[in-house]
Amino acid sequence: MFCRNCGKELVGTPEICMGCGAKPLAGNSFCQACGAETNPLAEICIKCGARLVKAEVVDISPKSRLATTFLCILPAWIVGIAGIHRFYLGKIGTGIAMLLTLGGLGIWTLIDFIFAVPGNMKDKEGKLIKNW
Ligand SMILES: [Zn+2]
Ligand SMILES: [Zn+2]
Repeated sequence: MFCRNCGKELVGTPEICMGCGAKPLAGNSFCQACGAETNPLAEICIKCGARLVKAEVVDISPKSRLATTFLCILPAWIVGIAGIHRFYLGKIGTGIAMLLTLGGLGIWTLIDFIFAVPGNMKDKEGKLIKNW
């Protein structure tokens, strides 16, 4: 394959390109199949016809990971009200559902907590909550 960022030919599918240090599939300047230059907006390579791998867009939420984590677990433990963190994240629908089911009897709350701690929880726009 070729690095989508710098166009260098790579052996196998390495995590990091040795030519530019970026993730080979995170760029959008070169075709991963033939190494030809590609338009950043192109869906397929006009030279070889390969479908271009979309750069993984990881949007970071402006919401606080700390607040999400605490709102997830603290109200549920102390006063038995689950789902507060979902209201905080703008997920009103699932927030209400969680409130009514007592956080899926605690299991749903626990799952959210497990997601929130390493920064895998998403807000209502699908942005990852990474920043503490
Ligand atoms: Zn590269
Ligand atoms: Zn190509």
